[in-house]
Amino acid sequence: MRKLQISRRTVLAGATATAAATVVAFDPVNLGWLTSADAETDGIRVPHLDGELVIDEESRAEAADDYGHIVHRRPIAVLRPGSVRDIATVIRFANAHRLKVAARGQGHSTFGQAQAGGGVVIDSRTLATIHRIGTGHAVVDAGVQWLDLIKATLAGGQTPPVATDYLGLSVGGTLSVGGIGGATSHHGMLVDNVLALEVVTGTGDIVRCSPSIRPDLFNAVLGGLGQFAVIARATVRLIPAASTARVYHLFYPDLAAMTAAQRTALADRRFSYLEGQLTPTETGWTYMLEGVTYYTPPSEPDDEALVADLAPASTEITDMPYFDWLNRIYELVQQLMALRLPGPWINIFLPDEATDAYVTELLDETTPADAGGVVLLYPVPRALIRRPFVRVPDSPVVFLLALLRAVSPPNEAETQRLIAVNRAQYDRAVAVGGTHYPVGAIPLTESDWRAHYGDRWPAFRAAKHQYDPRNVLTPGQAIFG
Ligand SMILES: Cc1cc2nc3c(=O)[nH]c(=O)nc-3n(C[C@H](O)[C@H](O)[C@H](O)COP(=O)(O)OP(=O)(O)OC[C@H]3O[C@@H](n4cnc5c(N)ncnc54)[C@H](O)[C@@H]3O)c2cc1C
Repeated sequence: MRKLQISRRTVLAGATATAAATVVAFDPVNLGWLTSADAETDGIRVPHLDGELVIDEESRAEAADDYGHIVHRRPIAVLRPGSVRDIATVIRFANAHRLKVAARGQGHSTFGQAQAGGGVVIDSRTLATIHRIGTGHAVVDAGVQWLDLIKATLAGGQTPPVATDYLGLSVGGTLSVGGIGGATSHHGMLVDNVLALEVVTGTGDIVRCSPSIRPDLFNAVLGGLGQFAVIARATVRLIPAASTARVYHLFYPDLAAMTAAQRTALADRRFSYLEGQLTPTETGWTYMLEGVTYYTPPSEPDDEALVADLAPASTEITDMPYFDWLNRIYELVQQLMALRLPGPWINIFLPDEATDAYVTELLDETTPADAGGVVLLYPVPRALIRRPFVRVPDSPVVFLLALLRAVSPPNEAETQRLIAVNRAQYDRAVAVGGTHYPVGAIPLTESDWRAHYGDRWPAFRAAKHQYDPRNVLTPGQAIFG
């Protein structure tokens, strides 16, 4: 084993960083790193890496934070991988020394999901190459942001079929949770549009998998919350891109009218994209269906045919370039991030038949401050959500409900109150057949997770035993203790 270069010198993790030097060994007793000065005596030699393992305060503090700014679990080191081999090396090292490992994409989780207290965080931003764009597919590293991939594919007239509302998320981070957006009504989730993966399992094995090669691993990893493997590379599906988005904002006087129109629009898939927004006002809520049709002139959508039977109280129609539409909230999110507001989000899937009653009660008890802005509510067809560990209600149509809360100004008591509200709202959702979309801030026990996976729990647990038997990976989800 050869020496490992790091950017700063510390004697042990947690000590003050001084001048640049070399970390060469791991101290298993104190769970820290030894520099060349110490390591002549004791310690376990750290294997050679193509990238770097850093232990400076700044890097560890960044890895102990995320979009939610609620949970802060400090790792003892951050790996900036220079290769897929580095990920395997560090996972094997972690197995040998009982360390936890979590991959971190863009850190846009809200409740510590990408953190590894006392362990090693793999910062995937250093593995962010778009390797190939072919007809119908692209091969990308997990650290690539969708924004960059979409810019590159659009240059050749192609696009991923589905995009999240915000494009500054990593391929690996979204494929580990699912990835939902307005085009899910046509194409399922991001995880339903993956053709192959290269992963590093919890035992440190580099494995390629696809629907025909190791399909069990492929299906487990997509939406598997980082429990079985770190995604290193993905082959994602592309389709021809239209040039233009025609955006229909249809307003309704109440929730029932809006969800009825959404159900009608979903039934015949008339829009390329279907979402909905509930906006708090001083006196109540506004209810807006958001439908988008992608097209390339000279062909034009038929506005009358698209809107008439949806009977909105008022309508706004706008055209914009397809890319501008996909990237519409990027700048807003950058501005919000600069404020570093605590973000106790709650994201829930509801069965169609329970949606109106559940959401009505939730809106009644939600003040504008508690909502933190626009609430998302939109239906997707259950049949298009195919990965076994993405848990959605057992109903032909399911609604995604997302409260993107932000506590402004930051206030710890308020944040904790809203986390308790999340838990109560989660319990009520489960009672009516709902599930959670695991990107938010809901405190969950192991038994909640068992219930979440329901009849899939034995398969989930078996996959964990097979691919990560020492429970090294992704402790931040708190599924296996
Ligand atoms: C502003 C904003 C808008 C959003 N909009 C949407 C939306 O429209 N639709 C939607 O579905 N979601 C949305 N999300 C949620 C988002 O998809 C998830 O939080 C996603 O996990 C974040 O991606 P990330 O790259 O930041 O992942 P991280 O937060 O870094 O990681 C998330 C989880 O994935 C794991 N992980 C990360 N990389 C890998 C990897 N390479 N292999 C295995 N596991 C890995 C982590 O360990 C962690 O458990 C949004 C979030 C934000 C903050």
